[in-house]
Amino acid sequence: MQAAELEERHLKALKLSHQQTLEIINRFEQGVILFTADANPILFNQTFLHYYPQLESSEDFFKDVALFTQKHHGHRFELKDWLKQLHQNIESPHQQVWLKSPQSKVSIPVRLQAYWIDLHTTPHILLIVSDQTLHTQVTAQRKLMEASYAGQFVTNAQGYIQHPNQAFSGYTGLTQTELSRMTYIDWLRQQVSFKVPFEKVISALLKEHFWTGEVQVHASEENVFFAVLSLSMILDAEQNIEHFVGLLQDTTDIRAAQTEIQQLAYFDKLTGLPNQTLLHDRIERLLQQTDSETPYHALYLISLDGFKSINDTFGHDTGDELLQQVANKLKQTLPEQAFLARVGGGNFSILYPSQSQDEALSKQDIARYSETLLDLIDDRYKLEDSSVHTSASIGICPFALNDTVHYDSDQLTRYTNMAMYEAKKLGGNQAYLFEDTLMQRAKRRLELIEALNHSELDDEFQMYFQPQVNREGRVVSAETLLRWFHPTLGLVSPAKFIPVAEEGRQIIKIGLWVLHKAFLQARAWNAKYCDIRIAINVSPVQFHEQSFIEMIIGLIKFTQVNPHNITLELTEGVLIKNAKLALQKIQHLVSLGFEVSIDDFGTGYSSLSYLQKLPLHELKIDKSFISDVPGNVDDEAIITSIIQLAASKQLKIVAEGVETQAQADYLNALYPDILQQGYLYGKPLPADEFEDVFVKPQANNRTA
Ligand code: C2E
Ligand code: CA
Ligand code: CA
Repeated sequence: MQAAELEERHLKALKLSHQQTLEIINRFEQGVILFTADANPILFNQTFLHYYPQLESSEDFFKDVALFTQKHHGHRFELKDWLKQLHQNIESPHQQVWLKSPQSKVSIPVRLQAYWIDLHTTPHILLIVSDQTLHTQVTAQRKLMEASYAGQFVTNAQGYIQHPNQAFSGYTGLTQTELSRMTYIDWLRQQVSFKVPFEKVISALLKEHFWTGEVQVHASEENVFFAVLSLSMILDAEQNIEHFVGLLQDTTDIRAAQTEIQQLAYFDKLTGLPNQTLLHDRIERLLQQTDSETPYHALYLISLDGFKSINDTFGHDTGDELLQQVANKLKQTLPEQAFLARVGGGNFSILYPSQSQDEALSKQDIARYSETLLDLIDDRYKLEDSSVHTSASIGICPFALNDTVHYDSDQLTRYTNMAMYEAKKLGGNQAYLFEDTLMQRAKRRLELIEALNHSELDDEFQMYFQPQVNREGRVVSAETLLRWFHPTLGLVSPAKFIPVAEEGRQIIKIGLWVLHKAFLQARAWNAKYCDIRIAINVSPVQFHEQSFIEMIIGLIKFTQVNPHNITLELTEGVLIKNAKLALQKIQHLVSLGFEVSIDDFGTGYSSLSYLQKLPLHELKIDKSFISDVPGNVDDEAIITSIIQLAASKQLKIVAEGVETQAQADYLNALYPDILQQGYLYGKPLPADEFEDVFVKPQANNRTA
């Protein structure tokens, strides 16, 4: 056979087998390269191509494939030389190197393993390149495990503990050999007690492949400690169990630290009692129970009366001593199941479950307990250098667990606070039961204050006018009544918002606005029609403002109103505070031309002496006296005496709240000069409507 011919046959055979060989080596997960005996590469599989996708021809093979002896800055590993020096007799030669591929930035640890194989009777070298990354990681992990303070172990597929680290041996007091004879289940049964049933732990581990929780480890009789145990189950790709891994962390130190932190965070230092935070937790936990055997509870807020002044007078040490004594008294008499806390300053709180299942009886029980507390605290306390007397103001908020209303701890605390303040307001040494009305009152007031602070007078407020008529039915005057249309609260009655605005002093601004509008309206009607008189309500707060008179004078100038057409309605209360100054102011107003009327006459202080001194023009009989006449003899007597008084001083009289003809007839018969105001004649109306209904027709009549 010719040499050339021989070579061609050989190549042909090789080509044929190429395809088959390629198929075989492509099944390898590792990189596989086939070399000729003199180290020329013939074939490489997909995995290897994965590292070097550009690898096309065999010529560039040794140039492209970059292997190094070390991860960083290592020498290049001369693969060709290594392959060449392999002798057939060396058994499975191998080498650890670093592969640098253009695909990844970091070098990969790989293991080279060479095999001599016969392909078609010719020897070849088969090189297997296996990625060691995982292996390196596992080794690193093993090292970490050894260094760790946490106990760790890995089991084999059967659950036998294979790689316990030193810490694990240390914790369990079992040697590596002892452990290796045990499955992890054996160990769990022998040393570990769980807070949950053992079956649950195992089923969670099998189902979720993971379980963690707090356990107690009984290493020996003397050595019992708390720990957190984590167990995981590692499966292979076919879902077969490969290992169980366990991690055991001793929590004794953490627990000690935790206890200390808890002590600081949840207990009052001075008395050792639970503090507000712990009480809050307690209440929240209680509120979550819906099927409690004790559905009725109460929260008590116990505030020592005069505690602040005891502190200020005798010093803080004395105050502290007192608190300790009170705390002890409360502790000693605390009913079973009740929870006592110190909630700051001179305040204690008790969460009290009534033993009664009946709502009414539980209320009695709750009230009785508050009496016990009051008696207990109301005492003289012997302190180191003094003796002080104190008592308590107690706010109580009863609540039911199955209630439709869902309370929360903050709410309950606020309610007891409100109730406690009521008890203080009433003089202390008493208890006050929180009721819904108290809350609603407080809530509404807050809402109103908020709304008043943000109200736009011109947009939301409007003046209404109500006629005051004489015996002939003629409208001689009109009272201005303020209406507030709030965008969300709707129409708010002045009876509700005026007191709030007085307290928050927004009435100053509102009152000025009212006077301004009313003056302008009076001027407009007087210029256009007739001498209709306008009565304006003036709040005592507004009246007592220092600049009230100046402000009025300014408004007269600005609006060009004639004060002779204006009546200012003041209440009796105005004259109580600073009577002398009030008298001067009224005199000043009268000198400017205004008339002055006493509103709600008879309902106030009824100190009639001021009537002698004041330059008054009118008394208004309050509608509360009118509503039951004729018929109510008491009211009739009052009305009669007011009328006599007014007549003797030549004062005008206005009766307000006249709703029926019978009332009107009765009043007219009593005093023909009386003016009447009420729904019988007309409800308060906006200016334009009032003008159409009452002012215009009268003016027409007169001209007609
Ligand atoms: P007031 O000065 O005693 O006003 C009389 C109240 O009785 C008005 O209530 C009026 O609408 C109502 N009224 C009139 N006729 C009848 C009737 O036949 N039957 C019944 N049941 N009620 C009648 P309103 O408007 O709700 O005002 C309540 C209070 O608010 C007023 O009592 C007054 O003290 C205060 N107020 C109203 N507007 C102003 C204001 O512009 N400034 C100040 N400072 N207070 C005002
Ligand atoms: Ca009035
Ligand atoms: Ca009134």
